[in-house]
Amino acid sequence: MHNSRQVARKKKYKRPTREQLKAMTPEERLEHKRALDRERQQRMWKRRMESSTVAERRAARKEAVTRAFTWKRLLPYIERQESGCWLWTGAFKLANGVLRPWVQAGAFGGVRADYVVCCLHRGRPPPYCFVASTCATLGCIAPEHTVWSNQAVETAKRRRAHEQGEELARRVE
Ligand SMILES: [Zn+2]
Repeated sequence: MHNSRQVARKKKYKRPTREQLKAMTPEERLEHKRALDRERQQRMWKRRMESSTVAERRAARKEAVTRAFTWKRLLPYIERQESGCWLWTGAFKLANGVLRPWVQAGAFGGVRADYVVCCLHRGRPPPYCFVASTCATLGCIAPEHTVWSNQAVETAKRRRAHEQGEELARRVE
């Protein structure tokens, strides 16, 4: 596959000669400084991309996002139910066909609200873990109903639910 991004990339900034630099108007000089700045930023960005993996960058972003949140910022969007569920009244985001409670965090984009709640209640996630719900209410982000889970636990949960379903079906026959 030919890399179309490389083709579309802007041409490298052509450095002026010493004579050209001397003959520049203040506006041109400012433009020159900006071009050098842009180049430096591109170099830094490239270095950062090359020295870190996607997983590391994602983890760093999540860390930065969750650091921006406190209970004080979340509570206005939470409606407490008698059942013990905390309904999220803020934004939702559709991800992989599932609606997730979503909090915006300015320049960082956003993160799942239940993830933030789980971080605040239980601390940072253990390795290879993600946030899971222990209740069936859509949009519930109660701290007691959100836990850190992993693929193995989720598979076991689904298998148990499947077995229970079969057992209940047998009772009908
Ligand atoms: Zn709940």
